[in-house]
Amino acid sequence: MEERRIIQVLDAIGAEYKKVGQRFFVNCKLAPYEGHATKTDENASLVVHIQEGKPCGVHCFGCKFSGTLYKYVKKLSEYEDINKNILELAKENVTQQSIVGMDLEIEKKESAVDVIIPEKKIKRYTEKLPIYVKRRGFTDEDMIEWEIGFDEGRQRVVFPVRNRAMQLVGAIGRAITRRMAAQRKYYNYWRFAKSRYLYGAHKSNGFKWVVVEGCFDCVRVWGQLKQCDLLNEYSVVAIMGSDISEEQAEKLITWGNEVILFQDNDDAGKIDWDSLAEKPTYKMTKFEYIMEGLRRRTILREVKYPEGVGDPDEWGKCSDVTRAIKGAELVGMDLPKFGVR
Ligand SMILES: [Zn+2]
Repeated sequence: MEERRIIQVLDAIGAEYKKVGQRFFVNCKLAPYEGHATKTDENASLVVHIQEGKPCGVHCFGCKFSGTLYKYVKKLSEYEDINKNILELAKENVTQQSIVGMDLEIEKKESAVDVIIPEKKIKRYTEKLPIYVKRRGFTDEDMIEWEIGFDEGRQRVVFPVRNRAMQLVGAIGRAITRRMAAQRKYYNYWRFAKSRYLYGAHKSNGFKWVVVEGCFDCVRVWGQLKQCDLLNEYSVVAIMGSDISEEQAEKLITWGNEVILFQDNDDAGKIDWDSLAEKPTYKMTKFEYIMEGLRRRTILREVKYPEGVGDPDEWGKCSDVTRAIKGAELVGMDLPKFGVR
């Protein structure tokens, strides 16, 4: 649990505490009711451990209480009037670990399961530059730089996907006609698990992460940032679809502290941040939960579209989108950080 959240809970239950290293020493609030020698605990017998991303463990040397901060507050609520919101605040952090505490697990999973694809498998698609991509206004340099290829058999533009170590981990084939796109917009080569990766991560240099939906958007925006010499400040990646996955969100949180959402300009994936702030986490959809996780854990911005522009690719084709990226508005800065008042 985050330190500031622990402080909120301790303040809310009226506990006195001091911080030493990664622990709070607290005058145990259970002293009047359970197992302490005196009715008040002046010795700060209760130890509260600060471990971000993990449930908050507490232990009392007086009453021998041992468990999570949530259980502690729950126990206290048997004796004192504890506001439901405070319980929720303490509890949320126990369940919150699924988004925050996954870093380590994901890292483990990735090193264990990152299946590296032999380079020769992609070569057959990338030997010729695809005419279709050229017609969309991409230069030969863009295509070479991003190794964009074409799959004659499937009639799809092929985008190789690499991890940050430059290893080939998969590829996706994008439909080139509307009819194909309606059926299946993306084809995953070699059973590529795209929800675990961010397209463009291997080219990232900047500490601010611009997140677009499609690969064309990614290449286009990257080109614009390059022209404006901004690639040391901004990285651009595509989620290869319209729903960001938990693993992708985790990567963004781990890799940087600022995320700039640059999704397509349609209703899919748009969040009403004001109402989201009112919603308890257990009522959120998975998508809302992930977005809220991003908002809490990063500086989150959103690019605002001008009238009539549909996506970053379309926008970047005719004008410079870097100004819009630089001017991206902060999301929910005036909203309460923890959804509790
Ligand atoms: Zn105690």
